[in-house]
Amino acid sequence: MGRKFFVGGNWKCNGTTEEVKKIVNVLNEGQVPSQDVVEVVISPPFVFLPLVKSLLKPDFHVAAQNCWVKKGGAFTGEVSLFNSKFKFDVSCLCSAEMLVNLGIPWVILGHSERRLILNESNEFVGDKVKYALSQGIKVIACVGETLEQRESGSTVDVVAAQTKAISERVSDWSNIVLAYEPVWAIGTGKVATPAQAQEVHSELRKWLHANTSPEVAETTRIIYGGISFYLSFVLLLFILNLIMAARIKINIIHYMYIPKAADGDSCGKHRKYKIADISFSCMFLYMYLFLIAFGIPVSGSVNGANCKELAAQPDVDGFLVGGASLKPEFIDIIKSAE
Ligand code: PGA
Repeated sequence: MGRKFFVGGNWKCNGTTEEVKKIVNVLNEGQVPSQDVVEVVISPPFVFLPLVKSLLKPDFHVAAQNCWVKKGGAFTGEVSLFNSKFKFDVSCLCSAEMLVNLGIPWVILGHSERRLILNESNEFVGDKVKYALSQGIKVIACVGETLEQRESGSTVDVVAAQTKAISERVSDWSNIVLAYEPVWAIGTGKVATPAQAQEVHSELRKWLHANTSPEVAETTRIIYGGISFYLSFVLLLFILNLIMAARIKINIIHYMYIPKAADGDSCGKHRKYKIADISFSCMFLYMYLFLIAFGIPVSGSVNGANCKELAAQPDVDGFLVGGASLKPEFIDIIKSAE
């Protein structure tokens, strides 16, 4: 009932001052629905938070991409967490108190890139959600399963466990947006269909209904954010190797000059394009190079083309957008709220 559409732009670790100004300009000038229809929250890298906040028109809000699990203090190099799995120190962007001080109302926590690369556990994410909320910061809490987990049929168990770690620590869900981000596009080119997104969103809502309260289930916004990964460079080399091993001959377009025909053709000359021996495998190579050249992610990411269909799903209350939030198509994604 009345869940306001939510669109988050996660810029990740991208941008220079000039680029940031350009993107903010596009956002400020975009014709987007009013704040009554859609809540837009932009999440730049930490160093650009004050700049973005000062330049963005007040219709948009700003989020940090992470914050520390407790009050900051004597931690040189920002706040650090010793990561027992990888045995190195992981920089954690800032404390919730710093966000309050900067007037930043939102933070993204539990993003899969932190869970997977930096080994953040469900419990640790739950603790961070609890602490950020206690300081008055609203949270975009991310959950999502890996490819192995999806293929072993444990998607719902995984996202439920991630959500449970939050619900065990938090009773008031009014300042939490739950972001479902399936991680299983890594190196596979697999794409989450709107129906697959809807299925998990609906399961998450059922879980909230059974384990928190019907009201929390009804009012909590569950947004979708596929994760984009380009097929790795290793995979490209692998394809090239296969092609070489099979000795596939690639004859790209020949521009052929054919001299005046013996029968006295009136044109005198013909120019003819000949495309020869482009094998099925080579087509894949061209497609791959095209994807890289034009920056099209091989993924289940939200973009200008798929946002409308995703937004039409009954349990999809918005998006957390990565790559496409750095491009003008982000305006179209915001418009999908209508
Ligand atoms: P993507 O990222 O839209 O580039 O896939 C989404 C996210 O990681 O939040």
